[in-house]
Amino acid sequence: MKRIAIFPGSFDPFTKGHEDIVLRGLQLFDEVIIAIGYNSGKSNRYFPVETMIEKIEGTFKKHPQISVQTYAELTADFAKKNGSKYLLRGLRNTTDFEYENSIAQVNRLLNTELESVFLITSPQFASINSSIIREVHRYKGDVSAMLPYKL
Ligand code: ADP
Repeated sequence: MKRIAIFPGSFDPFTKGHEDIVLRGLQLFDEVIIAIGYNSGKSNRYFPVETMIEKIEGTFKKHPQISVQTYAELTADFAKKNGSKYLLRGLRNTTDFEYENSIAQVNRLLNTELESVFLITSPQFASINSSIIREVHRYKGDVSAMLPYKL
């Protein structure tokens, strides 16, 4: 049976840190679905979701095992619908750990078949953070070194 992992997040924007987790995830899973949590009615995104889908698809065009979807429901339910038993997440520091620990426990309660798998960030990407990128971009700073595509 195919091992399908969901990589959920807001990806506002998708960064080189995310790219690294997805590519390393492919060593463990047959397929990785990048799942952008997005609710059209309630969205307050900085980068439009359509732009981000296009950029992510372009980034991984040589990898048919990687796809992008949006979802507006519980991650645990989205995983079940897509035949996925694995949630892929990245860990940069203890703040990520505290948050991820709680989320993983709750996801397990909601969907007992779901296993969360954590990859420790590669050191060169440890400081890359979507909210800092938004802040730099807002004030016209150059964020290109932190993104795997051209904006
Ligand atoms: P959220 O908004 O739900 O935190 P993000 O889109 O920021 O989601 O991130 C999704 C996942 O990617 C999370 O598991 C997060 O810890 C991980 N991540 C974000 N940036 C990095 C990075 N630079 N290196 C490794 N993992 C990262």
